[in-house]
Amino acid sequence: MPELPEVEVLVRHLGPLLENQIIQSVTVQRAKILAPTPLEYFLSRLKNCRFSGLNRRGKYLLFSLQPPAPQPSFQMLGHLGMTGRLFLVSHGTPPPKHAAVVFHLCQHDLVFEDTRYFGRMTLDTTAIAQLGPEPWADEFTEEYFAQRLKNRSQAIKILLLDQNIVAGVGNIYASEALHRAGLSPRKMGQRLSRPQVAKLQGSIQSILAEAIAFGSTVPLNWHSPDRSDKLFYYGKAPGTADYYEERLAVYDRQGLACRTCASKIRKIVQAGRSTYYCPRCQK
Ligand SMILES: [Zn+2]
Repeated sequence: MPELPEVEVLVRHLGPLLENQIIQSVTVQRAKILAPTPLEYFLSRLKNCRFSGLNRRGKYLLFSLQPPAPQPSFQMLGHLGMTGRLFLVSHGTPPPKHAAVVFHLCQHDLVFEDTRYFGRMTLDTTAIAQLGPEPWADEFTEEYFAQRLKNRSQAIKILLLDQNIVAGVGNIYASEALHRAGLSPRKMGQRLSRPQVAKLQGSIQSILAEAIAFGSTVPLNWHSPDRSDKLFYYGKAPGTADYYEERLAVYDRQGLACRTCASKIRKIVQAGRSTYYCPRCQK
């Protein structure tokens, strides 16, 4: 599932390509993805709109759209769900089987492909209001984080996935941040000491920043379905060297040696999601 870094890299890649492109028409193959926006409204609202900006909030994409004057601009919200992908193809390229929405531009088509049907592309932007601060926002202070973990008896790993506490952390980077902070994923939120809260806050920020930096330097393969390298959500472009093999410290490494202490990495399931950790570094 794409997390904050993957969405951020997508925004940086796609934003400049979409800038000032005008939507000639839209093909919707699966109207459910637009909910609660009705299909007819979506089609008529987007026609002739110009893409005037692309931003990220948490794991959401926010497209700014400018209709012909004098209508005011508005926003469209996108979420990649579990396996959603968003990419440009030459105009007229037959859409992939699981293309949910295709925006026809002048020379390109913007394809939103979603094989597992958890994605969204909608004019309802209310989900944004529910989100906690961005990991680098001024509001995400040690004081704020400590307050939000206080009185919480859930495991810290599960709390990190709560987008209302801090936006953008998902399953991969929650495990990674806890490993860097030396914290057990099972530890109750309320049991973290103030120095542990501070350390975890810093780990979240550094882990996500490194993942963005990594994704910004590796040539990514945006529309190939082959993501078997697990290095990045989109997969590397063919022929790219493995120049950062040790990017993930614990995620998906059960049974392998911890890069810090050589103990075997363990995998447990918390709230239905896999967690990876080092039993020695994260007591
Ligand atoms: Zn270790």
